[in-house]
Amino acid sequence: MSLNAESTAFRSALEVIRAVEPRVADAIGAELADQRESLKLIASENYASPATLLAMGNWFSDKYAEGTVGRRFYAGCQNVDTVEALAAEHARELFGATHAYVQPHSGIDANLVAFWAILADRVESPALKKAQARQVNDLTEADWFALRRELGDQRMLGMSLDAGGHLTHGFRPNISGKMFDQRSYGTDPATGLIDYDKVAEAAREFTPLILVAGYSAYPRKVNFRIMREIADSVGATFMVDMAHFAGLVAGKVFTGDFDPVPHAHIVTTTTHKSLRGPRGGMVLCGPELADQVDRGCPMVLGGPLPHVMAAKAVALAEARRPDFADYAQRIVDNAQALADGLTRRGAKLVTGGTDNHLVLIDVSGYGLTGRQAEQALLDSGIVTNRNAVPQDPNGAWYTSGVRIGTPALTTRGLGTAEMDATAELIHTVLSQTTPGASKAKYVLDPALAEQVSKQASDLLTPFPLYPAVDLG
Ligand SMILES: *Cc1c(COP(=O)(O)O)cnc(C)c1O
Repeated sequence: MSLNAESTAFRSALEVIRAVEPRVADAIGAELADQRESLKLIASENYASPATLLAMGNWFSDKYAEGTVGRRFYAGCQNVDTVEALAAEHARELFGATHAYVQPHSGIDANLVAFWAILADRVESPALKKAQARQVNDLTEADWFALRRELGDQRMLGMSLDAGGHLTHGFRPNISGKMFDQRSYGTDPATGLIDYDKVAEAAREFTPLILVAGYSAYPRKVNFRIMREIADSVGATFMVDMAHFAGLVAGKVFTGDFDPVPHAHIVTTTTHKSLRGPRGGMVLCGPELADQVDRGCPMVLGGPLPHVMAAKAVALAEARRPDFADYAQRIVDNAQALADGLTRRGAKLVTGGTDNHLVLIDVSGYGLTGRQAEQALLDSGIVTNRNAVPQDPNGAWYTSGVRIGTPALTTRGLGTAEMDATAELIHTVLSQTTPGASKAKYVLDPALAEQVSKQASDLLTPFPLYPAVDLG
């Protein structure tokens, strides 16, 4: 495909938008400029391909398609069927899964679909059978009342937030924490690693219905074979949320015990993080849970987003190409180069390094809070986000950590040499920043911030973002 076609496509789209509301066209153009200029180290972000982006901006957005492929509650869904079936097929082939459900609108939605599929399978179905009812509408008032009580009285064991777990794994501010009685497993204070014996002990004591693995800020591999054994030993359903590292699974960096798909009963993910697709979610499972998962809409989801499913099909097709495996390996090589560069310069890293796409700097080593460090880096043209470290004394708002990840910069083409240069910039800013009068205040010489911004921008110059897109 000619590069010129990409540029023409985006320019024409902006022209059409500009004719209606020029401020929106301006904001879209400004967003591209901002993304081009910033050294984006946010571990959950990436740059989707032009084909993926363009697949979203069209008339598929206008179609209602509740139901599943070939079984819709609306007429005229044959083209939606085509793209949904394609996305699911690519997902199954890519991950070696028996079943893929590509409708979830986000990672949170994918998790809700999974939770309710498990609850339906393990709590609702047995209750229906016992009452000799075919479906919930056939239950007596008394049986329905009892079932609702039982659905709301289940237990979940997941990774603690400060060890890198996610809010949707049963924490109170999220609906999952209101649905489930939750308990967490953490990491070993000495090594920062998951202690599987402790997980097994917690599982024995708590006997959860669901054991969840998966994280957004744990810089190491997880052994899913061991986690499955633990789940089996207490009769729990084993769920893995691979939202952050799906790209590393797709690219076969995580294989064997570290590939969640053969070990988990059910796997959820986002499609926009390391997987590099459109903003959305997905569920993979075996035949046992497939029917329940397919009830995601209207169980917890509104009508599917056919334009996003079209983009998922495109991005998943891209992830099946051999160069994606190369991309995934470079993500990890880059993260390790960044970790090495930081360590050599004296930074303190949670677990001492990484074997995935992210690095968690414990900025207490620089005498800073996560909030001070994040802002000082931002002043210097380096975009990261603050994150709690295990047993964080500064809580979830100020934190003591900064999380950095390499999926986005790797997409741009930066390699290990640039990662070492990035480590130098990060270390320079953090070692020159001094804490201020509060956990949010800090002092950083503006001249230094400006100098680092310039160096960060120079680092990006040889690696243009969307090089074919010239908005003029
Ligand atoms: C990002 C993330 C989610 C939520 O994804 P959204 O698309 O923002 O809803 C869920 N689980 C984990 C582990 C994540 O990292």
